[in-house]
Amino acid sequence: ARKAALASWTGPGGTADGHPVPLLANIGGPVELDAAVAAGAEGVGLYRTEFLFLDRAEAPSAEEQRRAYQAAVEAFPGGKVVVRTLDGGADKPLPFLPMPAEPNPALGERGLRRSMKAPEVMDTQLAALAAVSGDGLQVMAPMVATAEEATWFARECGDKGLTDIGVMIEIPSAALRAADLLAMVDFVSIGTNDLSQYAFAADRQLGALSALHDPWQPGLLDLVAMTADAAARVGKPCGVCGEVAADPALACVLTGLGVSSLSMAPSALAAVRAGLAAHTLEQCRAAAHAAREQPSAADARAAARVHLPGLD
Ligand code: PEP
Ligand code: MG
Repeated sequence: ARKAALASWTGPGGTADGHPVPLLANIGGPVELDAAVAAGAEGVGLYRTEFLFLDRAEAPSAEEQRRAYQAAVEAFPGGKVVVRTLDGGADKPLPFLPMPAEPNPALGERGLRRSMKAPEVMDTQLAALAAVSGDGLQVMAPMVATAEEATWFARECGDKGLTDIGVMIEIPSAALRAADLLAMVDFVSIGTNDLSQYAFAADRQLGALSALHDPWQPGLLDLVAMTADAAARVGKPCGVCGEVAADPALACVLTGLGVSSLSMAPSALAAVRAGLAAHTLEQCRAAAHAAREQPSAADARAAARVHLPGLD
């Protein structure tokens, strides 16, 4: 009965002893925005804006974009809405953002790299974001590898009058030098899907490599820990918006590693909320510590579970 009650509860996320962990939604458009509200998300942790316009031949106007972003901000009064600038690439081709032919598109001019080469589309997007009224809007860049890139992005945003600026940590170099990136921006958000792809040199689209994408890989947990530690040292938020946040046991482990918010598909919110609410911060920390002591993903998962009764 207690489990059922927890599963239907839609209050703010947090551990059993009251450590708050805002639970946010990953969305790609208005339908998922509605689902996020219905699932009791506290905000949007990742607005994948490229999905809004994937099938469009021409770049959407600033006004059309503004309306989409405004709707998200209005859906979460008092909450945060993190809008990610276009993450076009080989896996998400955008007709209006032509990609050069490349032998290794995942290692090519995707994400922010494309925007730096051809800034017009991002320029319109930032203007649209700057025209959004109300509070809670945050803007972040995908595929940032260096502090110089973070600096470039922060300056572009600043020129438009945008104030709450972040970058994704989804390339190992960015995790290793998170402190340098954090010096240039207000927050970071870890994209574990790509971080795992690049850390393990394993194409995220290849099911045959799924063992390397196991989110319990201690190497991935180390990169998350390193980033969360750097953020904690300067008192800036560090979220996770990759698929790992959608697993209740991993959500506890990420919290134990010092991650300050979790963003996931709306359908995952209830289970993560219940899993967190059933464990203390101390249990989350013990699980995270135990997991990182292990040499393999399977061992890490088993070691964490000892501290997280009721979760598998
Ligand atoms: C990620 O890489 O973890 C992420 C959240 O971004 P996307 O899945 O859109 O690449
Ligand atoms: Mg990514």
